[in-house]
Formats: sequence, structure tokens, C-alpha cells
Amino acid sequence: MTRWLVKCDKCGEESIFNAGYDLTNLGSKVYMYCGRCRRNTEHTVLGYYDDDTGEFIPFEKALSFKYRSL
Ligand SMILES: [Zn+2]
Repeated sequence: MTRWLVKCDKCGEESIFNAGYDLTNLGSKVYMYCGRCRRNTEHTVLGYYDDDTGEFIPFEKALSFKYRSL
């Protein structure tokens, strides 16, 4: 599981989204439930937390990591 930091496009609420897959495959947007809006809204993927170091990896950097490994 990866802890992704996402931000609701409607209200700006930031939340952690645990996903077992790579969100960068979906682009920078993900459609999910927002607790503040109380409905599904579009969210911007801001990045993820590295499980080993706890370091926050911004989305752009996550993308460049991925392309470097290809
Ligand atoms: Zn919201």
C-alpha cells in the first residue's frame, strides 16, 4: 500500500488515500469520496509518502522516478 496525498478540487481539503496501485498511471486526477463535500469529487494527486523514509514525494518527482526506471 502507498499513502498518497490528494486534494479535493472542490473544497481544497487534503487527505491521505491508501492505494495498492500506482496513481501516476491514472494521471494527476482521481475521482474519490471527499469527507468534507460528502460526495465523490475530483481530486488532484499531490504526491505520496515513501514507506521506507516517510519522505513526501511530490507528484512530478514520482513521475520522473517512474520514467527513469523505464
Ligand atoms: Zn471536498
